[in-house]
Amino acid sequence: MIIVLRPEATEKQIEHIVQRVTKLGLKPLVSKGTERTIIGVIGPEDILRATPLEVFPGVEKVMPVLSPYKLVSREFRKENSVIEIGRGIKIGSQEIIIIAGPCAIENYESLYEAAKSVKASGAKALRGGAFKPRTSPYTFQGLGEEGLKYLKDVGDKLGLPTVTEVMDTRDIELVARYADVLQIGARNMQNFVLLKEVGLTKKPVILKRGLSATVKEWLMSAEYILAGGNMNVILCERGIRTFEDSTRNTLDISAIPVVKQASHLPIIVDPSHACGRWGLVGPLARAAVAGGCDGLIIEVHPRPEEALSDGAQSLTPESFAELIPPIKQIANVLGRKV
Ligand code: PEP
Ligand code: MN
Repeated sequence: MIIVLRPEATEKQIEHIVQRVTKLGLKPLVSKGTERTIIGVIGPEDILRATPLEVFPGVEKVMPVLSPYKLVSREFRKENSVIEIGRGIKIGSQEIIIIAGPCAIENYESLYEAAKSVKASGAKALRGGAFKPRTSPYTFQGLGEEGLKYLKDVGDKLGLPTVTEVMDTRDIELVARYADVLQIGARNMQNFVLLKEVGLTKKPVILKRGLSATVKEWLMSAEYILAGGNMNVILCERGIRTFEDSTRNTLDISAIPVVKQASHLPIIVDPSHACGRWGLVGPLARAAVAGGCDGLIIEVHPRPEEALSDGAQSLTPESFAELIPPIKQIANVLGRKV
């Protein structure tokens, strides 16, 4: 249920409603927009139906929520959410943010090299995995804490916010200590225990779409994080499993406008994992920007042929640099910037 307050509702009136909702055993989540305040209520709606909240001073209307998700819905928040990911970089505004870096952090030097080059080309944040969700247990699993230290150091040196994956609830505290943004990988999109735990932090979260997840399931997963109190969620479309096997996954471009209609959360696109082949990353990145995404996350390695993971889909610093100008032009056409 969503309680929409009148523009002139006072703090005292808001507090009164929050207290009443809490007393009924329900959880109120207050969202202050530019024009008005909205209170999302979590819990069995029938309890509230017995209490006519419409009569409370300050309330404009009370709406039952039709969609299965509440806090992520456009009904809950009309304006686009803008998420600050560190060092003043914001995702969800007019500017399209490019995050780039290697699939995995392999050593300090190559991370620094990748970071320096992507920054010079216009990337605003650095990615790099320290805990890698590999299909085979015998392949490189990531450097763990050592990798996180490199990531923090390189981010600090170059003034770039950092993004890295957390796979296990036991590592959240550790990863949050070193990185600016927690990535939940596609394979963990429905790891509800992990989602609940990152929901208790205040760190921005990039929630990747599951390999075979519908948009609805993906938004329900985001709902877990918001319901825990962490509203800083950025969705990431990274391709889904289909019958098509000429690409690693199939980039679902339609997910961008579908998410934009259904939710206020920003959405970025990962063309690298979507296609699995470096030669397709540019066209897919351009299509994603044309489709209205708020950012891109792209794998770049100084020497892809030596990469310990995802070399086939990694761009060289040179091909990454070439990808940017056409993206800028497409963004301009849409009244946005890169
Ligand atoms: C990654 O970003 O390196 C990664 C493993 O992504 P995904 O979870 O989308 O497969
Ligand atoms: Mn990867």
